[in-house]
Order: sequence, then C-alpha cells, then structure tokens
Amino acid sequence: MFDIENIVGKSHRLLKEYFGYDTFRPLQEEIVTHVMQKRDSLVLMPTGGGKSLCFQIPALMMDGVTVVVSPLISLMKDQVDGLNSNGIAAAFLNSTLTEEEESKIMQQCREGKISLLYVSPERITRSFETIFGMLNVSLLAVDEAHCISSWGHDFRPEYQQLKWIKHTFPDLPVIALTATADKTTRNDIITQLGIREPKIFLGSFNRPNLSLEVRVGVGAKDKDREILDYIRSRPNDAGIIYCMSRKSCERLSAKLNSKGLHTDFYHAGLSAEQRGRVQDSFINDDTLVICATVAFGMGIDKSNVRWVMHYNLPKNVEGYYQEIGRAGRDGLPSDTFLYFNLGDIITLRKFAEESGQVALNLEKLAQMQAFSESDICRRKILLSYFGEYLDKDCGNCDVCKNPPKKFDGTIIAQKALSAMMRTKENASTQMVVDILRGSQKKELIDHGFHRIKTYGKGADIVEDDWKQYIRQMMHLGLVEVAYDRNNALRTTELARKVLFEDKKVGLVKLVAPEIRKKRFKVT
Ligand code: ADP
Ligand code: ZN
Repeated sequence: MFDIENIVGKSHRLLKEYFGYDTFRPLQEEIVTHVMQKRDSLVLMPTGGGKSLCFQIPALMMDGVTVVVSPLISLMKDQVDGLNSNGIAAAFLNSTLTEEEESKIMQQCREGKISLLYVSPERITRSFETIFGMLNVSLLAVDEAHCISSWGHDFRPEYQQLKWIKHTFPDLPVIALTATADKTTRNDIITQLGIREPKIFLGSFNRPNLSLEVRVGVGAKDKDREILDYIRSRPNDAGIIYCMSRKSCERLSAKLNSKGLHTDFYHAGLSAEQRGRVQDSFINDDTLVICATVAFGMGIDKSNVRWVMHYNLPKNVEGYYQEIGRAGRDGLPSDTFLYFNLGDIITLRKFAEESGQVALNLEKLAQMQAFSESDICRRKILLSYFGEYLDKDCGNCDVCKNPPKKFDGTIIAQKALSAMMRTKENASTQMVVDILRGSQKKELIDHGFHRIKTYGKGADIVEDDWKQYIRQMMHLGLVEVAYDRNNALRTTELARKVLFEDKKVGLVKLVAPEIRKKRFKVT
C-alpha cells in the first residue's frame, strides 16, 4: 500500500538535504505526493513559483530515471550544473552533444547512475523509443507544457510528437508544468499529452507587490521624457524597458544615455557573447536599466528588479504577465507601467494577420487591448485570464487608485449570459450581440437563435456598447473565449451565480462612442 506519511517525511528530508529549504511552498508537497502515487498531473504556477521541485524531489525518491522535456536548450546546461552542484545526478541530451558524449550518458542512465535526464523536444521525438524502451524511466516531466498547444502563445511543433509517449507507454506517469495557460490551452495540453484523470494544480498568479499602471495615448516625445524622469527619480533601482523592435531598443537606450544615464540594450540580434555580457552586467547591478525585446529575461534569476516598463503594447496577455513578472521577485513593492497607443494596435494587428493563426492572434491582441482600455481593476482582469477570481478590487492599480463610477448591471449581464447559454456556448461575441439586439441575419435564423428567450431583449443598447459590456464581463470572470471553437463565448462557474443565485454585477458606465474615440491621440 502507498504510505503517504512515509513519502511526506522523506520528501521533507530531501528538500532539506539537497536544496537546503525547510518548508515546501504552496502546492509543492501535494504535487510531490500525487506524483509519487504514479498519477498524472498538470501544474500551473507562475514563474518563480517553484515548479521544478515538483518533479525533482520525486526523481530523487523513485528508482530509475525522470526524463524532463524542456525547450530551452540554452538553459539546460545551467540547470544540470546547478543540480550537480547540489549533489544530484543529472545530465542532458540535446543537439550540442557529440555522439560519443551521448552514448556515455545513455550508458550511465542504464546503470542507474542518473536520476534526472533533461532532453530537448527534438532529441526526444527522434528517438523516444530508445530512451523510453531501453531506460528504466519512472516519470516524464514536460516543462513549458503550453508549447504543445497551438492555442498557447509559444507553440512548438516538435512538442506535439510527445503525445506518442503516453500512447506507447500508457502507464508512465506524466507531470506537465507551465506558467501560462488559459482554459483552452490547459485542456489542449491534457488531451495532447494523453494525461489520465487529470489532476490540475492551480497555483495563485496574484503578485500583489507589483503595482499595475497603463498610460494611454502618450506621444513618443512625452513618453521618453516621462521615462527619463522616472529613471532619474530612482537612481539605485534596476529596471527593464520592453520595446517592440530591436531598433527601438537601441534608439531608446542611446537617447537615455545621451541624457546622462547609463543604460544598455538587449535583443536577439546581438551575438551570444554580447548578450551574455549585457545579462551579467544587469545581474551584477553594473547596468541598472536595460532596453530590451521580449528575448530578454528568459531564465534570468534576478530578484531585485524594481520596475518593468512596456514601451509598447505586448501582443498578448500571457507575454505581458511574464514580462511584468520579472519585477519584484523578492516580494518587495515594484512598479509596472504599460504605454499604449493606437499605433501599436495597428502594427500588432498587421503582425497577427501575417501569422499562421490569424483569428487566434487577433483575439489575443483584442484581449490585450481590452485590458489596457478597461475601467475594471487591472489585477482582476489579469487574474481572470488565468482562471482566478479576485473577490475585491486590488487597490494597487491605476484603476483602483482612480476608480470609475459603476452601476448595477446585473440585468444586462443576465441577458447576455442567458443568451450565451442558450446557444450552447457556440456563438461568437458578434452573434451574441446580434441575438440580444434581435438581428435578422441569415446565419442567426439558420441556427434557430431567433427562438432564444432573450432574442431582441437588448435592443435598447447599441452594438458597440454590448461588446464593451461583454468585455467587462470577461474581465469580471463571467465569460471566457473558447479559442478552439472559433472564439465562441463560454460562461464560467461564476456566471451561474449571476444567473441562478442573483449575484450582483457592477458594470462601468460607458462614455459615448464619439468621446471614447477622442480619448486616443493617434501618434
Ligand atoms: P519555476 O520553475 O516555477 O519558475 P523554480 O522551480 O525555478 O520556479 O523555482 C524558483 C526559485 O524558488 C528557485 O530559486 C528555487 O530554488 C526556489 N524555491 C523553490 N521551492 C522552494 C522552497 N520550497 N523554499 C524555498 N525556495 C524555493
Ligand atoms: Zn486594482
């Protein structure tokens, strides 16, 4: 029989012995115990939440090898070196090794000398049968598991081959881990990996020490001046400014330096050596401010980044959350700012239209835009994206500090939610609005949606306002977008409380569309 007490006691001893920690972080102990029962799991935890221990501790307890799939070849060596220096037998297989080195590692694995084997997805798909057939593999850990899903924000086709593993070795326990996954992506990970009786461990994504602020419609010159003033006001603090293009990183850094600051820039166009130098000087506090593209930050473990700025709108909420998350890892108060101009939307829309998944990327961009334009507590919106609902407003974002007027929007919300439910959650925003407004469109009639009880019950609200209210309802956690069903609207658990338990919904009063348009200065 499975002896939980024994496992718990042992895992605590290993935590202390190999990692030097006295206590587990939230969920870690539960996850370790679950994995030790050879059951599958999906772990969603923010970056820095401590996902690695969830498979490293079991790896130390199990006979055989734990295979870890990780997409970041550049980090693999560091991870393995780190483990080795803690006295853990770990190795990696990827394209940087010679055949000889590789067969030596395989040999060590066969002899039971290796507990953790990190493997790149290319490597594993090429010869997973050799790895899993010849070695005594006790656990498969899939890191950055969202890469398997084309609904996620960082799809890697190689990852899709991983589904054959569970297919071929159904009894092998799997632990999938990610820091970013909306509900669609989450379900897709489970399906693709063939996770059985999925147990999902959802860590909190709330980072209350990060202040959130969006600055809308600030022109380029004013933006640069505000940034300069801000950095001067915090001469001893480290920060990152994320820019959209390589060129704008270089330009901004040069401009700030011309005003007497000492900043540097970082992007994927630099040589590995240059990138290493910039990273090191940032980590050692020699250069406090880096102007960078999204290439900067992966795997940089710096706890005292005091602020993160977005010079431009990020292309989706996942990216934005990851990037601001590099601030304040030590838990101390840290600032984040996002500049948002209509010009960004135009550029990003073009990128999305040129991408392989136009509808998906446009929808993700629309959510990012909606976050920036919204009058609802920004943290509520961010967390709703990860399926987490804050009961109260956060008090540490620009909306909370300057709250807009709200009215009782319960009836409006009920009408919309009821329409969504009666379409069996198969209708897009446009269709739901058409139903509410009683449109005669052919597609609507063909679906029989004109027979829905709330058909035409929202004709008093104009189309544009309905769309805004539905966005607000998403931000309040009542509605989600199903990317895998043509962006259809899906109601959440919380929505049931509004429909059936009369939970009140506060909506923000909308300003007239003509005023709304004027709010943006096109730069
Ligand atoms: P993630 O993979 O979720 O981004 P990591 O596994 O890299 O996070 O852990 C982030 C940091 O937290 C690491 O420095 C790790 O050593 C530390 N850490 C993890 N678990 C604990 C714990 N129980 N106690 C203290 N520190 C921990
Ligand atoms: Zn707030």
